[in-house]
Amino acid sequence: MRQFGLYIDGRWQDSVSGRHFSAVNPADGKAVAEVAKGCAEDVDKAVQAAAGAARAWQATPLRERSATLYRMAQILVRDVDELAMLETLDSGGTLYYSAVTVKDVAARRFEYFAGLADKIEGRQIPVSSTYHTYTVREPLGVTAHIIPWNGPLWEASRSLPPALAAGNAVILKPAQEALLGAIKLGEIAKEAGLPDGLVNVVPGAGSEVGVALVNHPGVHGITFTGSIPTGQEIMRASAATMKRLVLELGGNAANIVFEDADLDAAVEGSIWAAFSNSGQICVSGPRLFAHESIKEQFQERFVARVESLRVGPGVDNAEVGPLVSEPHMKRVLGMIETGKREGAHLLTGGRRADEAGLANGFYVLPTVFGDVTPEMHVMREEVFGPVVTITGFASDEEAIRMANETDYGLANGLWTSDLGRAHRVAGALQSGQVYVNEWFCGDIQCPAGGYKMSGIGREEGQQALDNYLQLKSVRMRIG
Ligand code: NAP
Ligand code: MG
Repeated sequence: MRQFGLYIDGRWQDSVSGRHFSAVNPADGKAVAEVAKGCAEDVDKAVQAAAGAARAWQATPLRERSATLYRMAQILVRDVDELAMLETLDSGGTLYYSAVTVKDVAARRFEYFAGLADKIEGRQIPVSSTYHTYTVREPLGVTAHIIPWNGPLWEASRSLPPALAAGNAVILKPAQEALLGAIKLGEIAKEAGLPDGLVNVVPGAGSEVGVALVNHPGVHGITFTGSIPTGQEIMRASAATMKRLVLELGGNAANIVFEDADLDAAVEGSIWAAFSNSGQICVSGPRLFAHESIKEQFQERFVARVESLRVGPGVDNAEVGPLVSEPHMKRVLGMIETGKREGAHLLTGGRRADEAGLANGFYVLPTVFGDVTPEMHVMREEVFGPVVTITGFASDEEAIRMANETDYGLANGLWTSDLGRAHRVAGALQSGQVYVNEWFCGDIQCPAGGYKMSGIGREEGQQALDNYLQLKSVRMRIG
């Protein structure tokens, strides 16, 4: 049983509140760590520390800023075993997936933005010979990063590197449901040589720590990843202090299999799209659409493959781990019952896994529903679990229409061997990301974010730096 404090101003400390909460392993329901539970006063301390650190960081030569962030990437790779274990024990994902998160996602992102930290440049704007006019891209100051539980290190490492590269100090508010994978980022930053207070980690309730960050006048930007209602609440609350906002909200991607697709690749890729991290990924692909000429064949092969998936603890590298918590498991089981009641045809799964060794964990069997129609809740709502719906379609237009028939617009994907169709359909799908012939492909260079209700702004890619910069134009009379 490990103990973690808050990480503020370059050291672990207890919360002013004196309270704690348990980090629970969803594979067996047992506590794995005690974590200090932050409060509004802790947020205030973190903001003071961050403001001082931001000034020191902005005075640091950019070459050094770059090198320090690069050292963070190296430390992440060095500590992969410990960090992957923390991520898996708390959130339930497989160790393999957690190790990929540490080395290929988190470290890679620090490396990428380390490379950009010394390339933040302004422009000279020729107005007339009497004036010297130029732009400067300046950091916001202190930014807060409020993340959900599905992959704490995955989520934290998305927005911290560009914010730091741009010259800001950061305060990370992880979710109570799962946070251990990201809890050491402050300590890692200190070891890498970042100023004390530049990276603060304040665990605690959204209703206390999250709200305090959103309301604090010393916080200049909020990057929030989570649900739509919380995103809306943050948008309303942050109006009072006019904060810069990036909102990465829910998704409910369509995964379209055309009749000319490579079916082997489509079956395997759709399994990966739907059941990675037990479906608890905002860009996973739970709404499957198959062309009617191949639907039966696809469905049969897909269901057979689903039934071959090994369900078990993340530490054993099973293919499908538990859901993050008991309440979330109950929510997913409730949506499965709704699907049954609405007349969706249960093809496999559909219940909690109660096999020996799994009964204390929060496991839901990989579930597939056939004959699903777009008005059914199990298709319309984001289940955020290992649940897939399959629906047939007759034409490209019908597939596109059903895919877009949702308020979400985070990701969609398709499988085809026709290049023209791939481009046409990718163009017609209303989402920030479109995958063609492979799911989750791309890298930190590619922008990610939502159309419609799925959010505001884009993370990843070079332009993510602009989320953490403000533009000043200096207009100087020289004539
Ligand atoms: P959530 O309930 O909105 O919580 C997200 C975070 O916000 C947690 O840290 C939470 O703290 C905090 N929070 C709650 N209320 C708050 C408030 N009023 N002010 C400030 N912070 C507050 O979301 P979730 O259920 O944990 O996460 C699942 C959702 O995230 C899904 O909809 C999923 O699609 C979405 N997601 C989106 C992306 C993306 O990139 N678009 C990526 C991953 C997940 P506590 O929970 O600790 O109280
Ligand atoms: Mg946990």
